[in-house]
Amino acid sequence: YPVIAIVGRPNVGKSTLFNRLLGKNVAITHDRSGVTRDRIYGEGTFGGRRVALVDTGGLEMEFAGDDPISDGIMAQAREAVWEAAAILMVVDGREGVMPLDERVAATLRKSGKPVLVAVNKVDGPELDQHLTAEFHALGFPLAPVSAAHGHGVADLKERLESELLAHVVEED
Ligand code: GDP
Repeated sequence: YPVIAIVGRPNVGKSTLFNRLLGKNVAITHDRSGVTRDRIYGEGTFGGRRVALVDTGGLEMEFAGDDPISDGIMAQAREAVWEAAAILMVVDGREGVMPLDERVAATLRKSGKPVLVAVNKVDGPELDQHLTAEFHALGFPLAPVSAAHGHGVADLKERLESELLAHVVEED
């Protein structure tokens, strides 16, 4: 199956979204950032296509250097680009774009792989206008979601098929 990697800063809700997309509790979520855990794979069907989802959270500690979190997240992004056919980047729709989000997005843009940005924690009716403009500047299509409450998740699942997998050639 094609692999979709989920990347993003700690605590943006990658694990919660991973669980929500697969509809089962195969990943462990943590309330603290930087908690060591292995990458977690799961299989799901989106728009009739079978895919493997990988939550790359947890690599941050393995690559701890002078600046453990950002070194780890950048390593995570490179790893995702390397192994995945397409990437689901997750950002925090309450905080806006952080410098590390910009660095991750730059790495993903350079890869040329298809990317969709899930703007998570949009628990209310819609995303703030100013933040929408900030997130658009990352250069990828945006999908507002609330992984915790489920809003926008059905739409995101459709777009995983129509916008990400549509660009992925099936390999045998
Ligand atoms: P990760 O480190 O990116 O994998 O993030 P987690 O999935 O562990 O989530 C980090 C924190 O954000 C947890 O406390 C989650 O309950 C919370 N969270 C995740 N998704 C949402 C959401 O859609 N809305 C709100 N309000 N909180 C969320």
